[in-house]
Amino acid sequence: MKLLLKGGRVVDPANSVDGMLDVLIEDGHIARVGRDLPVEGADVFDVPAGAIVAPGLIDIHVHLREPGQEHKETVATGTASAVAGGFTAVACMPNTDPVNDHAGITQFILKKAAEAGLARVYPIGAVSIGSKGEQMAELGEQKAAGCVGFSDDGHPVRTALLMRRALEYAGMLRVPVIDHCEDPSLKGDGVAHEGFYASTLGLRGIPGVAESLMVERDVSLAEITAAPVHIAHMSARQSIRAVRAGKERGVSVTCEVAPHHFTLTDEALNGQVKYDTNLKMNPPLREQADMEAMLAGIADGTVDVIATDHAPHHLDEKMVEFDRAPFGIVGLETAVPLVFDRLVHRGLIGIGRMIELLSVNPARIIKVPGGTLAPGGPADITVLAPDMKVTVRAPQLRSKSKNTPFDGWEFRGGVAATIVGGRLVYRSDREAAR
Ligand SMILES: [Zn+2]
Repeated sequence: MKLLLKGGRVVDPANSVDGMLDVLIEDGHIARVGRDLPVEGADVFDVPAGAIVAPGLIDIHVHLREPGQEHKETVATGTASAVAGGFTAVACMPNTDPVNDHAGITQFILKKAAEAGLARVYPIGAVSIGSKGEQMAELGEQKAAGCVGFSDDGHPVRTALLMRRALEYAGMLRVPVIDHCEDPSLKGDGVAHEGFYASTLGLRGIPGVAESLMVERDVSLAEITAAPVHIAHMSARQSIRAVRAGKERGVSVTCEVAPHHFTLTDEALNGQVKYDTNLKMNPPLREQADMEAMLAGIADGTVDVIATDHAPHHLDEKMVEFDRAPFGIVGLETAVPLVFDRLVHRGLIGIGRMIELLSVNPARIIKVPGGTLAPGGPADITVLAPDMKVTVRAPQLRSKSKNTPFDGWEFRGGVAATIVGGRLVYRSDREAAR
């Protein structure tokens, strides 16, 4: 079982590799990376002109909805969406029904992922039983079952004491706590960013400090416990300031930004379609200064990861008044086009930094294989097409849910192919037709 990727620009920042090279895959692993490798005995994948061969992209923040909400997404449809978006692995949040707070659920998700045979799936376990913020879950058992991190995502870890204990235990287990930062009393029943547009439209606001207060709390707790904390879906400029300050004094803190938070602001709520529920997410779209702070953090290295917060919801659930609609949008299939179009082609970051944000750092933070094309590692590879013209068509998304604010948008940059464990699991029609 040999596969040769021939004639691409290989970019592997972890090994400082960037050049026109071939990649030979044997038995699901990277065998060699080099110039003009011999073709004998191998199937050949001709890398399209201009394409980039990168270590497989890893999205460490997705909601696969199974068990319990299979009308929104399943492990099979979610991983089909992942590979179509160029992701060879995803880490899934525990806010399923029931919550993934014990080994049985983790094993169920891993079984479903093996049956689907598409992207690798790394479950994230709940910090507290039922993510209720009261009693801590059995983190050790959860890790033994396959969890790569802990989070009460969807909710914050309610008390500082519970967060401290979670950091202590997770730190001993050498896995991160992934932190949904939100002060419940300040968030209240808010539905949009507190500011000009929420006021204009009569929507209840969520201030940026509802997020950053908890970032500050948990950076301080990571500091006294010397345990790693990863700040999820950061949106407020005050939060990035808190992360930057923590990093400067050596705290083990990392953070992620979702593509919608570096692309859109709350002004979109006042666009052609007012009160579009596909613009409702938590944390909310914030104002221009916040978006600019996210872009600055991506450019200067403060932001470690771009993660989608892929949050599928059924059309019927979103077809209600803005106040009543659930938070969240799908993101797996629009992330790469958004990163190319808004960050790379605008000169904010280079290809190497893009791959760090989407592959190298995600692998490092949740301590999973990948993030590199070093020989011996798993042959998880994403073939990126920087100049592919992509028009997002919501009905054509692989995800079971179509709740994207980017329907009809055109981008430059996409995914040509996705390879997991040496198997071609996705190939773009556009590339195949060339
Ligand atoms: Zn969250």
